[in-house]
Amino acid sequence: GNVLKARTIAVLGSREVGKSSLITQFVGNRFVESYQPSVETTFRKVIRYKGHEVEAEIIDTAGQVEHSILSFTHVVGIHGYILVYSVTSKQSFEMVKIIRNKILNYSGRESVPIVLVGNKMDLHHQRQLTFEEGKNLASHWQCAWTEASAKNNDNIIRIFKLMINEMEKDINPNSKE
Ligand code: GDP
Repeated sequence: GNVLKARTIAVLGSREVGKSSLITQFVGNRFVESYQPSVETTFRKVIRYKGHEVEAEIIDTAGQVEHSILSFTHVVGIHGYILVYSVTSKQSFEMVKIIRNKILNYSGRESVPIVLVGNKMDLHHQRQLTFEEGKNLASHWQCAWTEASAKNNDNIIRIFKLMINEMEKDINPNSKE
């Protein structure tokens, strides 16, 4: 039968890449143009996927990553990471690489469950990163990846399904996919 599992997911990335927007879209099904929390916020949502029932605790790290860059508290008790860049910002792409290194350093592990997300895919004319650049980085990291638009609600549910998949693989390496 289904057992409700608790999983904690941290959403990390540069300021303004759309972390809060994608969480808000997923949890509350809305896009709030002006929503800008300045403190860390936690959201909860039960996700049902492939027979798994997961009570997800989703941490919006709210721009703390930028200067102090990730503390130990962003690693302890975290089951999975959503690393967000914006396809309109090369700088944000460099930032996810720095963040991943920090996570691996702090956790002392060679890999952790990660979903790499290229957000703002709706902004075609402002692209600084191709589809392939994101895809290649994910295959190099052997993690999941998708482009998304928090604004248009494109691929937002997919992000969290991929996250569940990655966390299950980590906890039960014999499971398929
Ligand atoms: P955060 O600092 O990473 O949490 O980013 P926010 O969620 O606050 O978003 C930063 C800005 O980008 C806001 O003005 C959002 O409205 C906008 N934004 C977020 N996601 C998207 C998206 O997918 N497409 C577009 N066009 N704008 C977005």
